[in-house]
Amino acid sequence: MPHITFIALSGFRVRERELAEVGMTLPGLADRAAAIAGLPPLGLLTLAGMTPDDWSMSLHEAAVVSDSLMQAIAEEAPTLVAISALTASILEAYGLADALRSLGIPVILGGLHVTACPEEASAHADAVVIGDGESCWHQVLDDAEQRRLKPRYHSATPFNLADAPLPRYELLGNRRRPRFTLQTSRGCPFACDFCAASRLLGPFRTKPAPRIRAELDAIRAIDPRPFIELADDNTFARGGPHDHTLDALTSAGTRWFTEADWRLGENPAVLNRLAASGCVQVLIGLESLVHQHTGMGAKRTSLDRMMDAVRAIQDAGVAAIGCYIVGSDGETPESIDRLRAFLETDPCADAQVTLLTPFPGTALRRRLATEGRLLADRDWSHHTLFDVTYQPDCMSPGDLENAFRNLLIDAFGNAQTKRRREIRRRTWMCNPTLS
Ligand code: SF4
Repeated sequence: MPHITFIALSGFRVRERELAEVGMTLPGLADRAAAIAGLPPLGLLTLAGMTPDDWSMSLHEAAVVSDSLMQAIAEEAPTLVAISALTASILEAYGLADALRSLGIPVILGGLHVTACPEEASAHADAVVIGDGESCWHQVLDDAEQRRLKPRYHSATPFNLADAPLPRYELLGNRRRPRFTLQTSRGCPFACDFCAASRLLGPFRTKPAPRIRAELDAIRAIDPRPFIELADDNTFARGGPHDHTLDALTSAGTRWFTEADWRLGENPAVLNRLAASGCVQVLIGLESLVHQHTGMGAKRTSLDRMMDAVRAIQDAGVAAIGCYIVGSDGETPESIDRLRAFLETDPCADAQVTLLTPFPGTALRRRLATEGRLLADRDWSHHTLFDVTYQPDCMSPGDLENAFRNLLIDAFGNAQTKRRREIRRRTWMCNPTLS
């Protein structure tokens, strides 16, 4: 029987030594890092769901590539190894792929980074998948079984989410998961210049309610009271009532989190049902306080309007995580200090603060490359969202690094963590699924 080994290189990475040392001691940062590190690798579980029954399969989730991981994979004598990794861990994925191939084990690589950099990835793999993996997965498996993998698989059309298979959640094993992942839409109608996820995998698409319900049932078969993290780029991006998604989530009776944009706070049709559907938390991209990024479309507005939207979301019983980007053009140590002061009184029940990062495939990266501002000594492993990778326009990379670290120490220290916990407590008093 042919065997496929799925490998997810997961986990939170920070290269900057001082931030790495202090970061995980900050309660507000450690919590979110732990949540991200524990997320199931939905892309691989979905491909597993498309894999025919005459294949056996296994899944390894690893924070680092180790000898024991190599040995475990080699002992499975797989027909094919499929590796997914984010930009920050792609060099580790390449190293693993090189080592496996030296043992004669075929490797296929896919995901956002590989889609943006297929030539680079091809040097480390027998085959690469560009774009949606589902569209070509059966062909990949057929070719792997016949030992005639093509160098590249690229579907001609975007995958239709109505045909989405049930992810093989049972591959996750017995380890309790703080969160399960489920996708209700893919892509985003906007094109913020720093965002790769919204564009690289094709146009914005939504999943039909029966498919969402089936996946919720599959998750609940494993955990009767799961917490769901929607793996969407921008849920509710299209506006309108979104009844089919909310109906499915309401009937599942689970609590859930997603990412959206501030316009959710001006959408009463969704807002009036959000808490009752089990939603307890949404991450809202508030972006930069000093720079209006291109491609934001209808997201572009004033800070005051976004804060009003945040208040409306929280008045509806759902905690908002305000998501801020530091280091955009125009940023100075003084503007970062203003952000620090703003974060001491802002209304959000939680915050996420990261550095602007020029991921491959983004308009931002193309612009910074044209301007000669990408730092030559920062490889992909620095693309963590917490490491400086380009020359800021108004200060040195070192000044940005220092100001960002000090901002995080304040924004995620005990005082702010306590203040935000109190906002969450008050917000959730209005949430019927939590009271
Ligand atoms: S709104 Fe969010 S998901 Fe959409 S393009 Fe912008 S950053 Fe990406």
